[in-house]
Amino acid sequence: MTYLRGTGWVDWPTTFEPPLAGKVSCEVAVIGGGLGGMLAALRLAELGRDVVLVEADRCGRAASARNAGYLTNTLGSDPRILNRFYADRVRGLHRFANNAVGFTEELIASRGIYCGYLPTGNIGAAPTAAAFERMRKTTTSGKRSTVGDAECLGIPPAFHGGIHIKCGGILNPGELALGVRDLVRTSSVRVFEDSPVLGVADVGDSVRIELAGGRITAGQAILTTNAFTRELNVAPRRLSTPVWVTAVETEPVPAERLDAAGWTSRTPITTNHFVMQSFRTTDRGTIVFTTRSLQMPRRLSDRLPDQSVVADLVRGFRERFHTLTDVAPARAWGGWIGITPSNMAVVGQATPRVYYSMACNGHGLPQAPYLGSLLADYMSGEGMHDDLSAVWRTSRRFAPGIVNPVTLRLGWAADRLGDSLDRLRR
Ligand SMILES: Cc1cc2nc3c(=O)[nH]c(=O)nc-3n(C[C@H](O)[C@H](O)[C@H](O)COP(=O)(O)OP(=O)(O)OC[C@H]3O[C@@H](n4cnc5c(N)ncnc54)[C@H](O)[C@@H]3O)c2cc1C
Repeated sequence: MTYLRGTGWVDWPTTFEPPLAGKVSCEVAVIGGGLGGMLAALRLAELGRDVVLVEADRCGRAASARNAGYLTNTLGSDPRILNRFYADRVRGLHRFANNAVGFTEELIASRGIYCGYLPTGNIGAAPTAAAFERMRKTTTSGKRSTVGDAECLGIPPAFHGGIHIKCGGILNPGELALGVRDLVRTSSVRVFEDSPVLGVADVGDSVRIELAGGRITAGQAILTTNAFTRELNVAPRRLSTPVWVTAVETEPVPAERLDAAGWTSRTPITTNHFVMQSFRTTDRGTIVFTTRSLQMPRRLSDRLPDQSVVADLVRGFRERFHTLTDVAPARAWGGWIGITPSNMAVVGQATPRVYYSMACNGHGLPQAPYLGSLLADYMSGEGMHDDLSAVWRTSRRFAPGIVNPVTLRLGWAADRLGDSLDRLRR
C-alpha cells in the first residue's frame, strides 16, 4: 500500500515554470492555478488582457488533479434545503450546474485534451432500504434520469437502488489538469509556479500582491485559491472552510469479477449518505473510492492520507462489494477542498478590484473552470452571464457554515448507524 503526497492519477512532470522574482505589473493577476484559475487566465488572455497567473505549487496539482473525476451536475446542497431557502434561485442554480458540465465537455473536446472521458452519467445510490423507498416516492424516471433497483441499474445489490442521472460522466482528473496546464503554459499568460502569494491589498488605483520573491501590481485580481482562500486577508471571512478528502485505489480487478459483484453497468456511483461515498472504475482496471470520512486538520499543508481513514474507506468498499473483499487497496492520496457556508459555488467581489471564485464544495470539477471563464468575461466588460448571476454574491458577509469537526464526526456516526441498522434488517 503506497501513501502518496500528490495525485495518484498521473506521474507529475518534474519540469515547472520559474517562480516570480522582482517586480511585475499586469492588467489582471490570477492567484491560484487550479482548474478555476487556469480557465480564468486562459479566457482573459483570449479576450486580449495582459494576464499573470501565480501558483503556490504547480498549476493543477492540488484538488484539480486529485479528485475522483466525476463530472456531474450535482449541487452541493440537499434538494430540500435548496427548495426551502433558495426557492427563487433553484432553477438558475440547476441551469448553472448543467451548463458547467457542458462547458467542461466542450473544453475537453474542442481542445483535444485526452483524459479518458466517458459520458456514463452517474448513479446516486441509496445506501439503505429506507433511503431507496424515499427516493422512489419523491423521484420519477424521465428522459434524463432512471430510478431503479440495484439489478435494474447494474450496481451491486448492497446499494438497494438509486437514480441514474444521464448527465456528465467520469474522467482522469490528472490528465485533464495537465492538459489544461499545457494550454496555459503555451498561451500568452505569464505563469509563475512555486510562487505562494503572501498578501493582497486593494490600494485604490491598483492591487498590490506580495510574494517572497517580489511583488505584482495589477489592475484587477482574482482569488481562485479554493481551500486556501482563508489564508489571504483580503478574502471575505468565512468564505471557505478547508476540509481534507481521501481517495483510495485498489489493485486491478478482472472484468468478470466486477460482473460477478453485480456492477455490470460500471456506471460510477455516489451514495446519498450525509457524507457521501463514491466508487468508480478506471481505465487501468482498478476501482477508486473516496470521501466517507472527512477531516479538518489545523494546518493547511500538503499531507499524506491517514491510515485510519484509509482503513475506514476500505471497510466501506467491502461493505458494498461483498465478493471483492480480497481485493487489496494499492494506493491512497488526498486533497484539500473548500466548503462555502451554503455548500454551493459562490462568486463575488472582495474589494472593488479583487474578485473571488469559490466553486469547490466537492463538486467543482466542472463548476470551477466554468465559473473562472464566466468571471473572466464579466471582468472584461462582457456583461454578467445568467449562470454567473445565479451564484453571484453581493454581500461580503457570510454566515457561519455547518461544517466543523463535530458535525463531520456526527454525520459519519449517523451514516454508520444507518448502514448497520440496514444490514440487521436485511
Ligand atoms: C479527493 C477529492 C475528490 C474529489 N472528487 C470530485 C469529483 O469527483 N467531482 C467534482 O466535481 N469535484 C471533486 N472534488 C473537488 C474538485 O477537485 C475541486 O472542486 C476543483 O478541483 C476545484 O478547483 P479549483 O481550481 O477551485 O481549486 P484547486 O485545484 O484546489 O486549485 C487552487 C490552487 O490555488 C493554489 N493556491 C492556494 N493558495 C495560494 C496562494 N496563496 N498563492 C498562490 N497559489 C495558491 C493552490 O496551490 C492550488 O493549486 C474532489 C476533491 C478531492 C480533494
